[in-house]
Amino acid sequence: MRRSSSRVSHAVQTAGIIFINMALIAAIIIVSINIYRLVTEPPAVTALRSLAVPDWIEVDLIKIDGASRRGTTLDDLGAIVVHYVGNPGTTAQNNRNYFNNPDSTVSAHFVVGLDGEIIQCIPLHEKSSASNHRNSDTISIEVCHPNETGVFTDAAYDALVRLTAWLCVACDLDADQIIRHYDVTGKSCPKWFVDDETAWAAFKTDVMTAKE
Ligand SMILES: [Zn+2]
Repeated sequence: MRRSSSRVSHAVQTAGIIFINMALIAAIIIVSINIYRLVTEPPAVTALRSLAVPDWIEVDLIKIDGASRRGTTLDDLGAIVVHYVGNPGTTAQNNRNYFNNPDSTVSAHFVVGLDGEIIQCIPLHEKSSASNHRNSDTISIEVCHPNETGVFTDAAYDALVRLTAWLCVACDLDADQIIRHYDVTGKSCPKWFVDDETAWAAFKTDVMTAKE
């Protein structure tokens, strides 16, 4: 009896030591990955981790689901991409909730609503699912619109200018780093700024003016 119970306690001890060693190895691997990530991460992305958004932006992040929000970090920051939601009359909250739906595979960092409200859906240093191969190095903004023309309301336009100007200052981006989804894939998005190049140029001028 004694020999068998000592064998059992020896086995328990061995299992305990193996478990502690495995936990230690796992901890070392996790710490190493994080150190590697911080050492190799572009400074622009590191800066985005600690950038506080102004109080005129509502932060309502969507859940990490592996598709809409993958929870992966940007590779770098090269541009801001402007989109339109393509669903006339929907609100910023409607679109944010759509992104958060388990069936959705799309998202944007920000949605600008018809009344100029702005909702942040994805943390700034993470990739959104909006701009195809430029998801890796861009911040995306979706804008709501009242009808099929895709033209923004004055309130949405003004909020888009304010948001883009703030991002340009905070992230040290220039006018040529404000792009349309159209410039990435040729898609008619945002429709208004693709149909009307003058409106697009005026928007960028307005952002640069607001930046000062
Ligand atoms: Zn788009």
